[in-house]
Amino acid sequence: MDQKVIYLDHAATTAARPEVVEAMLPYFTEHFGNPSSIYSIAAANKKVITDVRERIGQSLHAPAQDIYFTAGGTESDNWALKATAEAYEKKGKHIITSKIEHHAILHTCEYLAKKGFEITYLDVDENGIVKLDQLKAAIRPDTILISIMFANNEIGTIEPIEEIGAIAKEHGILFHTDAVQAYGQLPIDVEKLHIDMLSASGHKLMGPKGIGFLYIRKGLKLRSFIHGGAQERSRRAGTENVTGIVGLGKAVEVAMETMEERREKETFMRDHLIDRILKEIPYARLNGDRNRRLPNNVNISFQFIEGESLLIMLDMKGICASSGSACTSGSLDPSHVLLAIGLPHEIAHGSLRLTLGDENTMEEMDYVVEQLKEIVEKLRNMSPLYEDFIKHSK
Ligand code: PLP
Repeated sequence: MDQKVIYLDHAATTAARPEVVEAMLPYFTEHFGNPSSIYSIAAANKKVITDVRERIGQSLHAPAQDIYFTAGGTESDNWALKATAEAYEKKGKHIITSKIEHHAILHTCEYLAKKGFEITYLDVDENGIVKLDQLKAAIRPDTILISIMFANNEIGTIEPIEEIGAIAKEHGILFHTDAVQAYGQLPIDVEKLHIDMLSASGHKLMGPKGIGFLYIRKGLKLRSFIHGGAQERSRRAGTENVTGIVGLGKAVEVAMETMEERREKETFMRDHLIDRILKEIPYARLNGDRNRRLPNNVNISFQFIEGESLLIMLDMKGICASSGSACTSGSLDPSHVLLAIGLPHEIAHGSLRLTLGDENTMEEMDYVVEQLKEIVEKLRNMSPLYEDFIKHSK
């Protein structure tokens, strides 16, 4: 009998919704025209792109013209940082970010540092929240950009975006946020939050992979990211990914319509999972803020456990999970996020991220807890460290 798969890695990626795929299909064949062509079957695709831009703009309380389609979160992050650096370097060469950003930000910052920019990496507290006092103290006359993620992809902590936006505005500094994990899960109003640039990605919200967008507030002098034709108002050239844009549009439409009910359902399942794990498995701790966290994120460290072994054994039970971010799995370095919240290496190594989605059920949550209890016990019984610990604690 085929084993049922329980997918609990929605922060890594999601399956496209059936209605997303259905919406996309005609654009591979029937509506294949290049949106830049003059004849009507192609020009209709221009209108479709405009409609999606409009829908995304509305979802953020932003004008449609401020939305630029990209190939996903990584490109949007690269664009925001590199183009700001280039456009504003005469004003200054100092950028502030945090230690828990995604590598799309951190590695772009490293690149900019090699180009002569100075980067301040803010600390976070034990729950992963950026320290606002440190942010204020880090601001200098030559600071041109603050880039802080909306919510963390590993531990789910939601950052104080409104306060950060207000600080940036007060000092006349641009504010970018990587909202790849938050967009579609949390309401976002770029006006209210004083956000100047925002990155998002289709495949995290049950849309297609390889499509995303960057919101760029009107008036910012960012230059073209990709040079060529006049697409995306000449700022990001290349024939538009029409199918991807259509799929993203559908995913955004459904995500916005269902946000409240999903949030309620996922928060309930999340809390049930956290409560049961912490109650029933000894030497386990929750990573990330208990309340200020994404509705679908559970991140737990189990002492005396090796994360990779845990993942393999969960996989054997049909459970897809992650030990950190998908991009870093495969490397033996512990997660930079878990180290930044103060976990010692050996505890960071024994961490598990479960990220829930719309299709998960309470029954699955209970199944996962039962399996986890068995696996953790089995692994600990094989661990000399655990044996030692038990001997000494007697
Ligand atoms: N930023 C964050 C916070 C993410 O979680 C991810 C993906 O995991 C990205 C950026 C990269 O997005 P994409 O996979 O669309 O390039």
